[in-house]
Amino acid sequence: MFGLALGIAVFAPRLHAEDAVRTSPDPKIAAALQQISADQVRANIEKLVSFGTRATISAQDPQAIASGRGIGAAREWIHSEFERYSRECGGCLEVKTDAFQQSPTERIPQPTQITNVYAVLKGTDPEAGKRIVLVTGHYDSRNSGTLDGKRDAPGANDDGSGTAVSLECARVLSKLKFPATIIFLTVAGEEQGLNGSAHFAKVAKEQGWKLEAVLNNDIVGGNKDPEQDAQVVRVFSEGVPAAANEKQLEAIRGLGGESDSPSRELARYVAEIGRTYDAGVKPLLVFRLDRYLRGGDHYSFNQQGFAAVRFTEFRENYTRQHQNIRTENGIEYGDLPKFVDFDYVAKVARLNAAALAALASAPAPPADVRIVTRELTNDSTLQWSASAGATGYEIVWRATSAPDWEHAQSAGNASQSTLKLSKDNVIFGVRAVDNEGHRSLVVVPVPDR
Ligand SMILES: [Zn+2]
Repeated sequence: MFGLALGIAVFAPRLHAEDAVRTSPDPKIAAALQQISADQVRANIEKLVSFGTRATISAQDPQAIASGRGIGAAREWIHSEFERYSRECGGCLEVKTDAFQQSPTERIPQPTQITNVYAVLKGTDPEAGKRIVLVTGHYDSRNSGTLDGKRDAPGANDDGSGTAVSLECARVLSKLKFPATIIFLTVAGEEQGLNGSAHFAKVAKEQGWKLEAVLNNDIVGGNKDPEQDAQVVRVFSEGVPAAANEKQLEAIRGLGGESDSPSRELARYVAEIGRTYDAGVKPLLVFRLDRYLRGGDHYSFNQQGFAAVRFTEFRENYTRQHQNIRTENGIEYGDLPKFVDFDYVAKVARLNAAALAALASAPAPPADVRIVTRELTNDSTLQWSASAGATGYEIVWRATSAPDWEHAQSAGNASQSTLKLSKDNVIFGVRAVDNEGHRSLVVVPVPDR
């Protein structure tokens, strides 16, 4: 939190400039969030459940699609929904599929077609339009058996909820225009081994996409147990990047960079969005890749070097995930819509939409951010290259032991700033700002000797 109260005792005597810059909401984005509808979320989740099973290994032949059962029918429906939103915005969305033949694995006995379905809201600016932010959920489901493509697998929460977030963000944000590009993705194969997201992230890497942020929503249904905390949603982020090379790992070890991966900066961005916009739910940052024994599609993107985080409800109910529908000893098993809190899913969708819209409105993050370390000095000089669309820059910093940024100071429209603070005692970052106050992601400097 940027506040005068935090850490000021340590730094105030040496700091003269406008401390504590606060982000104010963009009224266009705040208005759009009001359009996100719990009723629409409910309709989407119920429709997804109506396909009986969406197991990746369930039927997807024309007959099954016509009968409305199986992953093929679900895929066709998602595609048609994106098309419908596109018609409503004058063809503003490009609706696409990323389909491939998955060869057999432990959880995929036969060669199986896996199809990711997505909609692209192309950025309006030719240069900024090359930058991409992405929201994703997995539309495949499972029951007790990973190899059971026949029995019902409703997947209302896991991950009808995340699929509904992608769909609802697409429906609402497609009514706005942004300089950068937003992709609304739904993937398959998650339950069989992250196959869909792995393929998509690999293609993005191979094609050199400027993919700046990935928001993965998986189990954001806020199941209605009494122990649930519907005020918060967990945001998981990796610390040491999965894609870091030896040289980068050495720098992380030497300088205390364990909590400053691009994914962690994205998580902090979401935290700030949660303070700036009234989504109705607050992000609770969890500084680890994922929960014990579990994984998710954000990791596929992390492996390719992209910043990606995972949203998941505060408290999960394991009798409602990965279970055949049944009642045993009075306990109801199965991932059914009646256990989902549709208002909660809508709130999570609002938080996602605000983050996507803010990122797609903001200038590119500053490039080539360095901290000058040519000689021993108690001051700190930061340098960076100009970002397209930026009208200014901000230096943010925090104590090395603090989880989130504590201070921000404008650097004007410069490409260098010197602060009367020792770089040995704090962690610095730089972000770009435009004339409407949109902030980019923070970039942490590398030492320049
Ligand atoms: Zn899942």
